[in-house]
Amino acid sequence: MRPVNCNFCGSSSANLLYMVRDLQLGLPGEFTLVKCENCGLLFLNPQPTWEELQTYYPEWYDSFLREYPSLIQRYGILRRCRVVSKYQQGGRLLDVGCSTGIFLNEMRRSGDWDIYGVEPVAFPARIARERFGLRVFQQTLIEAKLPENYFDVVTWWDALEHTPNPKECLQETYRILKPGGWVFIQTPDPNSWEAKLFGPYWRGFEAPRHLHLFPVPTLTNQLGLLGFRVRSVRNFAGNLSTAFRSLGYWLDSQGLQVIGSFAHILARSVLCRVVIFPIAFLLRHTGQTFSVLYIAQKGPYG
Ligand SMILES: [Zn+2]
Repeated sequence: MRPVNCNFCGSSSANLLYMVRDLQLGLPGEFTLVKCENCGLLFLNPQPTWEELQTYYPEWYDSFLREYPSLIQRYGILRRCRVVSKYQQGGRLLDVGCSTGIFLNEMRRSGDWDIYGVEPVAFPARIARERFGLRVFQQTLIEAKLPENYFDVVTWWDALEHTPNPKECLQETYRILKPGGWVFIQTPDPNSWEAKLFGPYWRGFEAPRHLHLFPVPTLTNQLGLLGFRVRSVRNFAGNLSTAFRSLGYWLDSQGLQVIGSFAHILARSVLCRVVIFPIAFLLRHTGQTFSVLYIAQKGPYG
């Protein structure tokens, strides 16, 4: 663990927000989540090193999908493909934190795309290569040293919050994008009602894998400072499963594991998601879900 300043603005002034734990996988450790007094960025401080974090990415981490466990997950991936294709039809695409390559594989099938992935964790990078034959660099984006002005699209699906250096990652994204290229960033919103309601039990904090969390004004401002033009910021996903999951974590913490396990079952249940779909749809379209998609462009702007 090492003490850090704010990665966005360099400030050393930050306020304690919560003590947080790995509620999702139940791995040991307690972490301090702080909020920068100057720019509002949330981050773990002190921050675990990459060596320390390795054990928090076991092979059974549920983001390492080997196949679609549910129709809803497939629907989520196809929505990502659709939104990218709305802005760019074909070209060279890089997915950062590509996990097992399910999104890249769908993109390749959906059009004339030359695709690449970056995934620093060995196990999902191997699955992506062996199962789908994808070009995946088992490195961080910075380590991969990709060519300048090379990609039409760079995507960060639920990935930027995992990095220890999001500002440098965004600078590197800008460098490797072609002029007029697009970046898509999906990330949880720590100012969402779910985060405020559940506090340290909110599923989106996901300690210690989420090293940073980005309030919408903070990330929007940072993208602008780095030269991007932000073209769209909106709720993109969200089906209340995280709310049920967070409720389950809270109930567990109160010693109410029996009711808590019911909340966890609801969080996983496809039937439940179908039943509450109209509510989730309404929340998404009124900007009330926890997951935000930023779409930004490197100039010159089309
Ligand atoms: Zn700051």
